[in-house]
Amino acid sequence: MTTGHAAKAHDLIAALHTDLLIDGAWVEAESGRRLDVVNPATEQSIASIADGGEKDALRAIEAAARAQRDWGRTPPRERSEILRRAYDLVMARQEDLALIMTTEMGKPLREARGEVAYAAEFLRWFSEEAVRIGGDATMSGDGGTRIICTREPVGPCVLVTPWNFPLAMGARKIGPAIAAGCTMVFKPSELTPLSSFALAEILTEAGLPAGVLNVVCTSDPGSVVGPWMSSGLARKLTFTGSTAVGVKLLEQAAEHVMRTSMELGGNAPFIVFDDADLDDAVAGAMVAKMRNMGEACTAANRIFVQRGVAEEFSTRLAERMGALVVGDGTEDGVEVGPLVGTPALDKVEELVADAISRGARVVVGGERPDRPGYFYPPTVLADVSPASALTSQEIFGPVAPVITFDTEEEVVQMANDTAWGLVGYLYTRDVERGFRVSEAVEVGMMGLNTGLVSNPAAPFGGVKASGLGREGGRVGIEEFLEIKYLAVPRRTVG
Ligand code: NAD
Repeated sequence: MTTGHAAKAHDLIAALHTDLLIDGAWVEAESGRRLDVVNPATEQSIASIADGGEKDALRAIEAAARAQRDWGRTPPRERSEILRRAYDLVMARQEDLALIMTTEMGKPLREARGEVAYAAEFLRWFSEEAVRIGGDATMSGDGGTRIICTREPVGPCVLVTPWNFPLAMGARKIGPAIAAGCTMVFKPSELTPLSSFALAEILTEAGLPAGVLNVVCTSDPGSVVGPWMSSGLARKLTFTGSTAVGVKLLEQAAEHVMRTSMELGGNAPFIVFDDADLDDAVAGAMVAKMRNMGEACTAANRIFVQRGVAEEFSTRLAERMGALVVGDGTEDGVEVGPLVGTPALDKVEELVADAISRGARVVVGGERPDRPGYFYPPTVLADVSPASALTSQEIFGPVAPVITFDTEEEVVQMANDTAWGLVGYLYTRDVERGFRVSEAVEVGMMGLNTGLVSNPAAPFGGVKASGLGREGGRVGIEEFLEIKYLAVPRRTVG
């Protein structure tokens, strides 16, 4: 880290609240335990945060339950303006928030700035949705009943988020929850909690009342989320993370029949037909693969390239990948930061070794550098066998496996040969084929001649093992609303 950035990051983090936010107060964990947050570029501790447990969790959910009645009755315009003020504050502090994020998570500052703006946009988007919560009124078929439907907040929500987008994943849930009038208990990832603390501070400054947002971080997620789920006080779970943890939480949600929104893992196919604009396709693959160092649920995990252009595509992709500057994300010019930790690094190494043992050719990268920090170089593998382990697991690293295909039918079959269905990407100049193949790929989102689908105005989410529900877009707020139907007998005048 450059000395200037290191000093600034140190001061910013030292000024943050690092305890638990319960009922409007920042408090120590009951146990007094603390846990370290580590900078993945240096392997050094950058903060010590309160390590919550069961008792803290119960106090938090009780606070959220107490706050629900009044918060649910707050005028929509008031909720809207809190979100709008929070948007302004986040954008005013974009540079500071980006530095905190890079220091705890590793992504280059340029990307961190982008994530801050992306996160802020969810606050702005839902500030606009808060005052547009509609309902409808119809008549029964026999004309005898007025059917009046209104929308009410679901109630206290459990929010659980991953480490890979430390600010945006929280904002994508907190924005609609506030807009809908729900209170929250929020457990950010223990690996990257600082961005969430900063967001909670901003929301408080923007006027969010005590108890509406409670934040508990922990080294033992089950000891906090478990009590929330079994408390009977929470009405909804909104989770972003791995499918394995999501499945466990779905089982827990069954006990009290909670509403759920599940944003889970992905295994995105990135398909390039031989009629594609290859410059565009390579540029799109760089975005779909390398955003967040490949640590994204939307990351291109399997790159299918039609035989006629496979060699040229791999060579051009390797040129671009090999030219990327790897290093501490706070340093000028760095384009690829470290991975989040040793387990992530070991997994990437194992997946690459497995692919090579099945015949893959390393075009660029493939060797872990000998330096502190969890770094792995941008890597392109050609001639990857579809039987390789990396085609059925999330790589979550900067490794681009190129798999050759011949026909449209074959590639659709390979793209769908996975339990996941979050996102897919497709490059072709043939408009008809673009629609045809997009419709045939089993995913919740499809990028046609683009490597980026994330957009606060669009519904984000997957099918199959990638989850349930959608975040963002016009439907994002629906996940936090219940429909109430009022039946009124209808008699006519005279
Ligand atoms: P993870 O499932 O390990 O952790 C996610 C969250 O769940 C963290 O806050 C963690 O502390 C918590 N958690 C872990 N075990 C728990 C338990 N037993 N009970 C309750 N909570 C528990 O995932 P991760 O490694 O943080 O994130 C990477 C995963 O997230 C990948 O699978 C990625 O695809 C997925 N992801 C999905 C989306 C999406 O929108 N679909 C976005 C980002 C990441």
